[in-house]
Amino acid sequence: MSCILELKNLGFTYGKDTPFEKRAVNNVNLKINKGEFIGIIGHTGSGKSTLVQMLNGLIRPTDGQVLLDGSDIWKEPKKIRNVRFRVGMVFQYPEYQLFEETVYKDIAFGAVNKGMTGDELDKAVRKAAEFAGVKESQLEKSPFDLSGGEKRRAAIAGVIAMEPDVLVLDEPTAGLDPMGREILLSQIVNYHKTRGNTVILVSHTMEDIARVADKIIVMSKSELVAFDETKNIFAQGDMLSKIGLQVPQITKIMQDLKQKGFDVPDGVLTVDEALSVLSPLLKKEGA
Ligand code: ADP
Repeated sequence: MSCILELKNLGFTYGKDTPFEKRAVNNVNLKINKGEFIGIIGHTGSGKSTLVQMLNGLIRPTDGQVLLDGSDIWKEPKKIRNVRFRVGMVFQYPEYQLFEETVYKDIAFGAVNKGMTGDELDKAVRKAAEFAGVKESQLEKSPFDLSGGEKRRAAIAGVIAMEPDVLVLDEPTAGLDPMGREILLSQIVNYHKTRGNTVILVSHTMEDIARVADKIIVMSKSELVAFDETKNIFAQGDMLSKIGLQVPQITKIMQDLKQKGFDVPDGVLTVDEALSVLSPLLKKEGA
């Protein structure tokens, strides 16, 4: 697999050389391969947002490097804009960034800035709307007439329409109701499957991350404490609880069953998986 993003000794200090100096990310080293779905977890204030904002050049590292396809994104600072088209960033509460007359224009905004026109632009906008779950009939509406969840989907479509190689989403389901979260998450999964692009998702919800991510970055107090496959991360319940995180509830239940002597495998991450492991056991018990 080829590497798309490499972080080398990456660090960031807010207010460097002032009395308010705050080290937010310290010496992170890792490689992300093309097409991977990466989850980022960590307590509030652990450095997740600062880390992802360095991936598309929104903030410049105070030390170390971000390599995109092997080259330092800050090699030519004047070209940093191009990096922002290649690494698309969906911020927390992105709906506050909608401002055009129509949803269509809002979704097209970034793609137009990238230089897309005509048919190419139209296709990208409509495809992105579909990926994000924005209905055709909503495209000519004012974004202000949409519901909260719909606005969020329109904002996400705007980033997808730029056709980035890497899509970064910082807490995209925050503040949505359970149904809204579920829909949005499946749309992101579908986008990843269909496009085969790299997706990086920051989330507080372990259940969500467990379901979708191939690998997980664990941050604590500005440090990278682990980067590994999802099932290996959630097999380390003690490490996670030390830094104030938990394994998904279903993983915990399965680990407890195993401790009690039931023949269940490690690394069960979703309710569906648990069901398929438990049904034969329950049948045996019942027989
Ligand atoms: P997370 O996304 O995990 O909640 P952040 O990257 O937002 O973490 O924050 C990491 C650390 O940097 C925290 O201690 C936070 O208070 C500090 N921080 C974040 N943004 C700023 C800022 N603009 N100025 C000063 N300190 C900041």
